[in-house]
Amino acid sequence: MSAPVLDVRNLSVDYVSTQGLVHVVDDVSLTLRRGEVHGLVGESGCGKSTLARSLLRVLGPPAVISGGQVLLEGVDLMAMSARQLDAVRWVRMAIVFQGAIDALNPVLRIEEQLVDALAAHGVRDAHEASERAKKLLDRVSLPRRVLTAYPHELSGGMRQRVVIAMALALEPQVLLMDEPTTALDVVVQAEILDELDRLRRDMGFAVLLVSHDLPLMLERCDRISVMYAGRVVESGPVDAFRGLPSHPYAKHLLGHPYAQHLLQSFPRLDGPRTISRALEGSPPSLHAPPPGCRFHPRCPAALPVCKVEAPKPTELAVDHVAACHLATQPLSLAPPERGDGQG
Ligand code: SF4
Repeated sequence: MSAPVLDVRNLSVDYVSTQGLVHVVDDVSLTLRRGEVHGLVGESGCGKSTLARSLLRVLGPPAVISGGQVLLEGVDLMAMSARQLDAVRWVRMAIVFQGAIDALNPVLRIEEQLVDALAAHGVRDAHEASERAKKLLDRVSLPRRVLTAYPHELSGGMRQRVVIAMALALEPQVLLMDEPTTALDVVVQAEILDELDRLRRDMGFAVLLVSHDLPLMLERCDRISVMYAGRVVESGPVDAFRGLPSHPYAKHLLGHPYAQHLLQSFPRLDGPRTISRALEGSPPSLHAPPPGCRFHPRCPAALPVCKVEAPKPTELAVDHVAACHLATQPLSLAPPERGDGQG
């Protein structure tokens, strides 16, 4: 197994509010290997976008990164000065936000924006920058006439392709994608994600894909981490989620037979007509999350202990971890203890 290109260790992010600190990301760890797509999934307000943005330290006040490390090829971004971080942003790790219209300057043509982005990272020769801008559009299958357009003259899908082209301009090793296709219709969404897959195979970058879209995650990701109320509750290879996820919340999200509410909330074109159902309840306020397991007020399998004791992450298999008092441990990763007096 290759070493991770991105290794997030015990990252915590708080928001400073008049009611005190709100722990929006609470002791989260995850890894991203070269060339893989790691999906970060959960309901709105679970902290997944805050986590993605904090990796590049693009969050402003009232957010405060209160602990942890973000190691990019072994170097901690959290310990870098602003100047050092400038040499990493867009060059080695880039981010694509949900709303391309907000990420683009409405009063500049696309070519100027691409050229400005390249100039900000050292491509000062105007002719070279212009030629590279054309190639960036080719890369994301956009016609060159887009160069002379303003953002409002493009469709939502075209704008998102421009933003992806901009993010890939300096060929980063890691691309953070924060709900990149949520605002697009499903056909355009599929086209853009296919395009992204092709680029990833050609260029070799890794993707952290943030989304609440469960079928999309199962289709597009190599690994998935499920977040709930600021914490990762289960993380593992996508096959673990297609088969039998361990955590009751992951089961809810990913369609276990006893709790298919969230999948049932997606209308299907095939099969019998059913009434869509949503997962009951909502994630807790992070101002005052429930004690013990934060999912216990909604959990159909909750035990008395769940109300008082937060479950610790349990390693279920290589690279597959769940934090639940019911999580079993079928595979011991520790070497067996020697009780025969040898060695
Ligand atoms: Fe449910 Fe308890 Fe597991 Fe939390 S720890 S998910 S409440 S069974």
